[in-house]
Amino acid sequence: MMSALLYLGLCILVGYYASHRGRSAVAWFIIALLISPIISAIILAIMRDLTVDQAIRRTSMEKDRMKERITVSETAMNARMNHMEQRMDRLDGGTAVMNPGEEKTLLNSSNDWKYCRQCGAKIDVSASYCPNCGTKLPKN
Ligand SMILES: [Zn+2]
Repeated sequence: MMSALLYLGLCILVGYYASHRGRSAVAWFIIALLISPIISAIILAIMRDLTVDQAIRRTSMEKDRMKERITVSETAMNARMNHMEQRMDRLDGGTAVMNPGEEKTLLNSSNDWKYCRQCGAKIDVSASYCPNCGTKLPKN
């Protein structure tokens, strides 16, 4: 009885040892039960430590992931820059195409505002009626 318990305890120890070396604790517990805990422990000691392999794999995976993240942010940056460039292009073309009259109204509409006495809407200074409430506006 006593030796059976000791044997079982040794098998559990082998399983514990196996899990520490990156191997299946359950599988090695069973192997220890079937063969012998001492022999299976020796086999385990001889076998390659999988935790080292796993650590190497993990770091290389992390490196890959980091590389991927960098490429992703790079492409995102490229897309943003392209978009900005296109907008700049359009802005450039816009001013080139715009005739003097349009430029004047644009300037006017962006600078000269008055406010409706009735509703407080922001209205172009040249308007004679409020577009919001229809109140007749005093000329100034
Ligand atoms: Zn109004």
